[in-house]
Amino acid sequence: MTDLNPTLQPIFDEILARNPGETEFHQATRELLDSMGPVVRRHPEYTDAAIIRRICEPERQIIFRVPWVDDAGQVQLNRGFRVEFNSALGPYKGGLRFHPSVYLGIVKFLGFEQIFKNALTGMPIGGGKGGSDFDPKGRSDAEVMRFCQSFMTELYRHIGEYTDVPAGDIGVGGREIGYLFGQYKRITNRYESGVLTGKGIGWGGSLVRTEATGYGTVYFANEILKARKSSFEGKTVVISGSGNVAIYAAEKAIELGATVVACSDSSGYVVDEKGLDLALLKDVKEVRRERLSAYADERESARFVAGSPTTSVWDVPCDIALPCATQNELDGDHALALVRNGCTVVAEGANMPCTPDAVKVLTEAGVAFAPGKAANAGGVATSALEMQQNASRDSWSFAHTEERLEQIMVGIHARCLETADAYGVPGNYVAGANIAGFIQVADAMLALGVI
Ligand code: NDP
Repeated sequence: MTDLNPTLQPIFDEILARNPGETEFHQATRELLDSMGPVVRRHPEYTDAAIIRRICEPERQIIFRVPWVDDAGQVQLNRGFRVEFNSALGPYKGGLRFHPSVYLGIVKFLGFEQIFKNALTGMPIGGGKGGSDFDPKGRSDAEVMRFCQSFMTELYRHIGEYTDVPAGDIGVGGREIGYLFGQYKRITNRYESGVLTGKGIGWGGSLVRTEATGYGTVYFANEILKARKSSFEGKTVVISGSGNVAIYAAEKAIELGATVVACSDSSGYVVDEKGLDLALLKDVKEVRRERLSAYADERESARFVAGSPTTSVWDVPCDIALPCATQNELDGDHALALVRNGCTVVAEGANMPCTPDAVKVLTEAGVAFAPGKAANAGGVATSALEMQQNASRDSWSFAHTEERLEQIMVGIHARCLETADAYGVPGNYVAGANIAGFIQVADAMLALGVI
């Protein structure tokens, strides 16, 4: 890690002291501050108004009890979170994550990233994130429903289409959004479609929202390739995860002519040299909700490597790597393996999947590296398109919505490069994304006064 600018070091020291034990939040704030040197030199007004200090402090943090009854009649207890981080640009916007690892530090890192990601989309949305340490794995539909109902029984009082608009994330897909929306509607007696995004198509959802994060990540990677006079055609791609983001990143990469040879889940990874059979993968993961080994059991060309964490998928040689599982899943050693095997582009579909060491290795080796806050912004951008459709009581075609998504991703890519150039760090997507997102939020905060 490089030394911070003398204006920024005390800010980081304060973050460490005020948020003890929240390692992922420290990592995310540090990564932003690492890009802020040229910004504080050029814009003393941000320092005078304590913008960076304020932006690193959530506007509101809500932690609540979520009791629910399992199928055996036992009372279960979980903890719920919603961190409303920044509303300078619009209502708080960001997903809900249900995973046993969820605690305040993870929700705050995700909410923090969301502020700048949302700004980069150019849409009027602030940043927030939430979730619970509830583990939906192995739970019946009825248990998931009772959990979601209890979760919303507290959350409803904090959200609203002009206040805070949650969506899905790890462990929260269409089924969970349905149960959450149903309970919100029941408690408030309002059919307020715009309060949640990721809804089903028949009841206020947007076409392309399911595909948006994965497709958007591939569109972003495609722009990187175009800038290098290349394309996805004929390339070998490795993807981590096999959830929402991973599946649709694979779908778009295949559509653009690539072969996706591996993906993973938390039980291991599959290698399929013939290229993933997406219909089978979707059936195993989206319909049957089974472990990834079931895919290899049913496909002759595939083998399953069990027991290893999702990260070992990075040993599989590829031209393009798309980490789409979870934070800190790709470390320095994995990055070295990618470089050794000739990988030239890494685009983050997940949030902060690459450790700082990994980013350093990749960047020093000349691998184009796209951070999640830029590369995976297609999901939240399409959520904002869902909000637009809800507000106008309209529903757009798949083709129109996908065209909007592609334009947004092309725009974010251009903005990252232009900003990186303007601040003396040409070609650096991390700095470009951080600076462009930050400046948009900082200017709005300056205009709104000390609030
Ligand atoms: P899903 O729950 O649909 O899929 C997550 C995938 O990652 C699963 O394959 C899961 O394996 C794997 N995974 C999750 N946690 C771990 C872990 N601790 N160790 C190993 N593997 C893990 O989530 P999404 O696809 O929606 O989200 C994936 C990433 O993308 C997250 O970082 C999320 O924040 C980010 N993201 C998602 C957006 C969206 O629109 N959904 C938008 C922007 C970013 P298993 O099934 O075994 O748990």
